[in-house]
Amino acid sequence: MTKLGQKVFRTLLTVEAAKSLLYAHCPPAQVGTEIVPLECAHNRVLAQDVEAKIDVPPFDKATMDGYAVYAEDTFMAEEDEPAILKIIGKAFVGENTKLSVERGKAIEISTGAPVPRGANAVVMVEYTDSEGDVLNIYRPVGPGENVIAAGSDIRAGELILRKGTLLTPRETGILAALGIPIIDCYMKPRVAILSSGNELIAPGKKLDDAKIFDINARSVSDSVTESGGKPLFLGIARDTLDDITLKIREGFKIADIVIASGGTSAGIGDLVYQVLDKLGKPGILVHGVSVRPGKPTIIGVVKGKPFFGLPGNPTSALMIFDIFVRPTIRAMAGLMAEERRRIIDAKTAQKIYPSEGRREYLPVNIVRCDEEGYMIYPVLTGSGAITTLAEADGFIEIPENRRFLKEGETVKVNLFSETLKPADLMIIGSHCVGVDLLLNLLSKNSPNILYKTMNTGSSSGLSAIRRGEADVSGIHLLDEGKGEYNLPFLKRFEVDDKAVLIRGYNRQQGLIVARNNPRKITSFMDLLRHDITLINRNAGSGTRILLDFHLNRIASQQGLSLEQLTSSVNGYSIETKSHAAVAVAILRGKADVGLGIETVAEQYHLDFIPLLQENYDFVVRKDRMSKNSVKAFLDTLRSEDFKEALKNVRGLSPTDNTGNILYQP
Ligand code: AMP
Ligand code: MG
Repeated sequence: MTKLGQKVFRTLLTVEAAKSLLYAHCPPAQVGTEIVPLECAHNRVLAQDVEAKIDVPPFDKATMDGYAVYAEDTFMAEEDEPAILKIIGKAFVGENTKLSVERGKAIEISTGAPVPRGANAVVMVEYTDSEGDVLNIYRPVGPGENVIAAGSDIRAGELILRKGTLLTPRETGILAALGIPIIDCYMKPRVAILSSGNELIAPGKKLDDAKIFDINARSVSDSVTESGGKPLFLGIARDTLDDITLKIREGFKIADIVIASGGTSAGIGDLVYQVLDKLGKPGILVHGVSVRPGKPTIIGVVKGKPFFGLPGNPTSALMIFDIFVRPTIRAMAGLMAEERRRIIDAKTAQKIYPSEGRREYLPVNIVRCDEEGYMIYPVLTGSGAITTLAEADGFIEIPENRRFLKEGETVKVNLFSETLKPADLMIIGSHCVGVDLLLNLLSKNSPNILYKTMNTGSSSGLSAIRRGEADVSGIHLLDEGKGEYNLPFLKRFEVDDKAVLIRGYNRQQGLIVARNNPRKITSFMDLLRHDITLINRNAGSGTRILLDFHLNRIASQQGLSLEQLTSSVNGYSIETKSHAAVAVAILRGKADVGLGIETVAEQYHLDFIPLLQENYDFVVRKDRMSKNSVKAFLDTLRSEDFKEALKNVRGLSPTDNTGNILYQP
């Protein structure tokens, strides 16, 4: 156990322990208040209670065009026997009429005008007609009808807005109604931000070799704004003691909070360490939190100001920001510290193995299944990917002590956004440019269909069909025994009783080689040459299965096993996850050849040796065939527009039965 107030070095703390240590040294408190003109008050936080000094509306006001009357004069009015009154004048908006209504009289009135003395109701003009000063009323009105009484909206003396309220347009509107031109607001905490890393370049500058653009400066700054703070960017620090010292020192001078990202792991982390302890007491409080992502997190306090060292990995940086920094900024900005996120119950679509011993914040996608409600699916991009959070609908929190979550277990999902709109059409499977084309056409024809795609590869696509997460899956799987595409796999993945197979299109597979084919590669046999290096695809991908099918054939011709043969293929064990990655490896000279589709070779201006056509087909869950989004998808697949679009892409071509059902249970 950690004692509060005690410094802990290099011991992983739980989230709660780290927070209490921070709050013990730096209790979250507002940074101050300032007077803000109403026109700048939007998105600010009220630092005072607001009491109404006037009635709103200030006078009894007509809410309809019509006639101000004594309600009692209309009580006997009927469709065929109107009440008859005498019109004595007109009441306009923005003016108090001198006239008053007496029994048997009426005054014509416009919406928003003060109701004249004597009148207690307004009859809508629609229920009247008039000739000269004679008014016929065909329907009775009750006292108070079509009148908003003085002070009935806001009464003078009423406490109308409380301290700590975030001023949205609805609240600034109330301030305007009360005629309040200036208001006390909490000052926004100033938050100094620096990125650290020798590899970082600011967006807009030239991307030199081995450099990457600085992501965290942007995403952390905007998270600060979103949390109610004012970001001040200090720039990119190089990984040197001098530079980091300079920037952090500057940060504490100009801001209430300092955030650094990158350089928090052991080694370089020591720099931040040394700097903080030199700048003032108590210095570093936390180095390492037992969470995933975000273990190398640093929290410190210098002379009462908090410091956060976020991990460099952009996804980790944002998750850690959410856990520690957001509540701190919100509290200092005068907002409720813990913002309530929208939480929904969902079931896990598959078994999930978290990192044992650490609390895991796992980004997930939510998929709506017809009967079972919501299912979740971990976001599949790697931990270093910036797209992870953009693609995720929310995250789940897995406690430290869980070894795994069962398939079908109910979990709470914290949603990133207030509204959850599950996709109308869920497509999970192998990635293909042809699918992108199809979806572009689909959005053009049916702009209201919200679709979501997950590129997991053919095999995972079929599993998603089996579990009901996908409506549609694009697959290209070659059966090694039969040399037949896709159909045999419906049985193998146990979907032959619940899925329909639909013919997609042809894809030209072949060998991707460098421009002008300098190594004179012509066939699979060339992969056995000692001077040739292959770049392979991941196991389970359709393209890998295809390669192994052909290598197997060569192996059996030579009386060898597949393993014996592939042990003499240079690079066979180097796997990449996409067609594009194969192309890039060849472009960079890291490999000489890889199996892939012509479309990609063309995109990267590489040479291509066509070897075979494969069938890229679609599997659709039978119980979703009648869904409108699925019907629209299939209509697009069968359309002439789609076939034309395919013909324009090198390596893709429609078949004469594109869109036909090949199999249904
Ligand atoms: P570090 O925490 O410095 O060891 O960085 C971990 C990973 O995050 C490395 O791959 C860095 O290149 C990357 N990284 C660090 N800072 C940033 C940043 N500001 N923007 C994008 N990537 C970053
Ligand atoms: Mg770094």
